Amino acid sequence: MALADLALSRSRLHKIGDDRATPGLLERVLGEPSTVILRVLDGRARLRDGDGPPVLHLLGGDEAVGLLDRLGGPAAAAAGGADPLAGPVPVLLGRFPEGGPRAGAAVVALLGGPDEGPDGTVGGTTARGRWSDLREVGALLDDTDAGALTEAVALEHWHRTHRRCPRCGGPTRPSAAGHERVCDADGSTHHPRHDPAVIMTVSGPDDRLLLGHQGRWPEGRFSAFAGFVEPGESLEQAVARELWEEAGVRVSAAEYLGSQPWPFPASLMLAFHVTTEDEHARPDGTEITETRWFTREGLADAVAGGEVTLPPSVSVARRLVERWFGTEIRQEGVWR
Ligand SMILES: [Zn+2]
Repeated sequence: MALADLALSRSRLHKIGDDRATPGLLERVLGEPSTVILRVLDGRARLRDGDGPPVLHLLGGDEAVGLLDRLGGPAAAAAGGADPLAGPVPVLLGRFPEGGPRAGAAVVALLGGPDEGPDGTVGGTTARGRWSDLREVGALLDDTDAGALTEAVALEHWHRTHRRCPRCGGPTRPSAAGHERVCDADGSTHHPRHDPAVIMTVSGPDDRLLLGHQGRWPEGRFSAFAGFVEPGESLEQAVARELWEEAGVRVSAAEYLGSQPWPFPASLMLAFHVTTEDEHARPDGTEITETRWFTREGLADAVAGGEVTLPPSVSVARRLVERWFGTEIRQEGVWR
């Protein structure tokens, strides 16, 4: 059974329908009265005031006009503000689907840039209202908000770290409604990149689950094994190599279970469950300092007693553990 409804693999915005290459598209969209703006600073977005599940504070109407005015108007904001190298970078994320609230309205993310929050305050942390990050609220937001924030956080990091051309070192500028960057010096176009990583749980011949503890983690944290896919390597090869390196177990079978973007800063997590005939594990002693086999009863007791902390619900790792366990696992301790 594949992993369904992964927290950060949800999206409801229509990404098609606007040709991103159309000249003036962002300026026109920012001028549409129904357009809402998602301001993201350092991976954080503002939440709506009030009790209940978190909801993104999307700026519309007078709030959106006020923010655009501070950036010099829709044309200047569409061009990336007064200093396109500094931003904020505007990105057309998509439009709300027909038949729901805000149907057809566009969502434009304003990413990074001068340290000014949507109400004129600095840095997000001192702004009115509550700002939060994707790790904290990603599993609690609705599908539309979760998808929009995941993409915005990923693109904020990419734009911030790709202001220079990798070919000639010249400045690059956003294009294609924020989905590419262009170097005017040599005409090259650069696309957002992300790095594939495999993540896997392992069960042994007696169906116990093998989890690992990293030396840099607080005591008691246990999680799935994970690592980046190396150049020239298939996903299956990466799974086998990582498990052998980190835990000293060999793969008998590996089942692909799904994927989730993990923009911290730029990973795409590809999830597997592995079975092994090996009964003994050997932590590598550097990254993984402890491996432990769990029965379901043993894991439940260890989590309930606070001896073991599992990764947060927003992660693929937690969902992989729960898939093996059979149900959702509740825990008091928070892993952030
Ligand atoms: Zn260049």
